[in-house]
Amino acid sequence: KAVSDNALWRRSMKLSMEQQAWQKSSEGQKMLEFRRSLPAYKEKDAIVNSISKNQVVIISGETGCGKTTQVPQIILESEINSIRGATCSIICTQPRRISAMSISERVATERGEKLGENVGYKVRLEGVKGRNTRLLFCTSGILLRRLLVDRDLKDVTHVIMDEVHERGIDEDFLLTVMKELLPFRPELRLVLMSATINAEIFSSYFNGAPVIQIPGVTHPVDTYFLENILESTRYRLTADNQIDDYGQVWKFNKQIPNKRKSQIASAVEEALVSADFSEYSQQTQDSLLCWNPDSINFNLIEYLLCNLCEKDKPGAILVFMTGWDDISALKEKLQAHSVLGDPNKVLLLTCHGSMSSAEQRLIFEKVDGGVRKIVLATNIAETSITIDDLVFVIDCGKAKEASYDALNNTPCLLPSWISKVSAKQRRGRSGRAQPGECYHLYPRCVFDAFADYQLPKILRTPLQSLCLQIKSLNLGSISGFLSRVLQSPESLAVQNAIDYLKLIGALDENENLTVLGGYLAMLPMEPKHGKMLVMGAILNCLDPILTIVAGLSVRDPFVSPLEMKELADAAKAQFSHGFSDHLALVRAYNGWKVAERKLAGYKYCWKNFLSPQSMKAIDSFRREFQSVLKNIRLIDKNASSYNTYSHDENVVRAVICSGLYPGICSVVHKDNSLSLKTMEDGQVFLHSKSVNAHDSRVPYPWLVFNKKVKVNSVHLQDSTAVSDSILFLFGGSISIGDAQEGHMKMLGGYLEFFMEPAVAIMYQTIKRELDELIQ
Ligand code: ADP
Ligand code: MG
Repeated sequence: KAVSDNALWRRSMKLSMEQQAWQKSSEGQKMLEFRRSLPAYKEKDAIVNSISKNQVVIISGETGCGKTTQVPQIILESEINSIRGATCSIICTQPRRISAMSISERVATERGEKLGENVGYKVRLEGVKGRNTRLLFCTSGILLRRLLVDRDLKDVTHVIMDEVHERGIDEDFLLTVMKELLPFRPELRLVLMSATINAEIFSSYFNGAPVIQIPGVTHPVDTYFLENILESTRYRLTADNQIDDYGQVWKFNKQIPNKRKSQIASAVEEALVSADFSEYSQQTQDSLLCWNPDSINFNLIEYLLCNLCEKDKPGAILVFMTGWDDISALKEKLQAHSVLGDPNKVLLLTCHGSMSSAEQRLIFEKVDGGVRKIVLATNIAETSITIDDLVFVIDCGKAKEASYDALNNTPCLLPSWISKVSAKQRRGRSGRAQPGECYHLYPRCVFDAFADYQLPKILRTPLQSLCLQIKSLNLGSISGFLSRVLQSPESLAVQNAIDYLKLIGALDENENLTVLGGYLAMLPMEPKHGKMLVMGAILNCLDPILTIVAGLSVRDPFVSPLEMKELADAAKAQFSHGFSDHLALVRAYNGWKVAERKLAGYKYCWKNFLSPQSMKAIDSFRREFQSVLKNIRLIDKNASSYNTYSHDENVVRAVICSGLYPGICSVVHKDNSLSLKTMEDGQVFLHSKSVNAHDSRVPYPWLVFNKKVKVNSVHLQDSTAVSDSILFLFGGSISIGDAQEGHMKMLGGYLEFFMEPAVAIMYQTIKRELDELIQ
């Protein structure tokens, strides 16, 4: 060990000599100067000092002050300069993969190194890391997965958790795990980095840990709310915008539709009813009456962008939208505009969670004078990505937010109003390098009605994966552990998750992990998709199931541009025989794969309204899932040897059903249309993109679905039709491994009863595979 440490040390010395040379170069000097100018860098000594004295330290400062890029380096440098320098191992977690990637690249650049030397990153599907890497940026999920196999984080010297204020579910979970690990690892250091909003709750959670407050430099920002925008421009809102997303007419100041239930939405409505705009001109007042809080006004955004582009003041423009769909719709609109769509005048970029690293780099690039950079972003640009030359911000006031209705056990994903903190954060993005301007596309009274903070994610999502992880990390009883997290979820939500896991056979009666549950905890996906993979492997139809599960992990590959919806639906219909969106995906993917081998993948996608990015993503997820299945020893040979029944649609259907149960809805034919019902929701509808929405001949009495979304009514996004016998045999907990005998006998009994050939084959397969698996 001493020898290898020594060698490591010599290597690190060599590196630092190269670095010294770089640092002396003018480029290096300039970079160092820049780093020194950052407020976080100026607190270097205080940070090092505090970390040496305390096991937990909280660092809080305005976005852009240099927390993310500087603090990990400050720790790395102080360790390199200390005697035990070569042996430190710092892990810095990020809530999103895209920030882990871009930040590691930035930090390596700042150090004059290549990525993979001292600094590396690891996210799902990708990573750059060398033998010498001592500062690793990763997602919180990656660190959690590492804890599964390395409970004590042996060899890790520092864990830095970035953006803890965002309160993601992985982050909240990690905080509790770390809190319980610290007493067993007295030398381990934990550094929490947070925006200024709520550092105190972390300090009190960690028994009064010290908070280092980094002073920020912010420039003043001219702020315009909707009434100010209308007052100072010639733009007028018209009644055209009054039709809301649900096709209803919105009447400002006159009527409050009672369909909107969330607290914030009602607070906003109340604020609007009692708002007083009398200090503004009559024209503005009239115009405000036409404002529709339920939709984003693309015309107004286009108008503002034109105005800003004409200004002499240079600087990039950031537009906060809610998600990929409205970003791409707006982009299309702007590209058709004579000025905004002219690449010689405007560099139009998008910024969202699933963009590639190449797209990402463009965002940071400087543009030539005369070209205006416009970035259309989701709330990812709120805290984790800093665009340097940003001067103007346009804020739509909304973000797509996952919420969870424990009462109906239904997840929802809807654009909803952001919090005050988010709105201020968005505004603050413009005033970093110089005085900025921010345009909020809603009246001030709406801002006043926003909640102060957003609820932490753990309080607004289903908890199934989290519960599995708690069990597999041996953290004791689920509800016991969840009572020790920063903010405990409601007990109904916890019970729902436990009931679900029992129902699918992941937990036994006493809440212990079953063999299946053990597998599911090791698979990096929702339990239902994990179960599909496990069953696909056991029932020898792995190939289509890999495609389906990969497809459920990426953005819907079937694209459907608004104005070409019919053509897109027709294209999807070609793949749709079999009454299954999931089987349609398998066919589309297989076709793409053939085309791709002939280098015609793009053409194929274009012709069939498929997204080439999604297809490629499916391809890499398939590879990842295969190697995970191998790693957890669910398969031992190549995935291709698990395909005996891949062409038997009924076997695939059965596997889909086993994964998606209890996501099931009954189908009743009624006057040439389908009447669909689920137990929890009663009447439900199919999303218009589903193949089953266009063909009412569905031959089976059941649909299983992956996702239902509550908008106004409940919509099933994707579905597969299944027969009684498949549901009977595969809907529920097919326990794998222990206690097998009884269930298998039962299966045999059903089989004699139904005598379905496909099912009989399956029975044989299960029996054989299970026997092998148990041995
Ligand atoms: P914080 O984490 O406090 O929000 P960061 O450490 O992310 O701040 O950023 C500090 C500064 O480093 C930013 O103001 C920005 O100017 C610069 N910076 C960060 N990332 C990049 C990048 N990829 N390219 C160029 N400059 C960057
Ligand atoms: Mg940061």
